Amino acid sequence: MGTIVCQTCNSTIGHFEDEKVTTLYGKCAECTHDKIDDNQ
Ligand SMILES: [Zn+2]
Repeated sequence: MGTIVCQTCNSTIGHFEDEKVTTLYGKCAECTHDKIDDNQ
């Protein structure tokens, strides 16, 4: 099973079907709204 993790706050966003254990990084809804505080 694959897991989607927020690269900003490390919270789990969701899961997707995969044969292997996979982690994808994205942004959750809260961090998407928080573009003003961009430390990267
Ligand atoms: Zn986040």
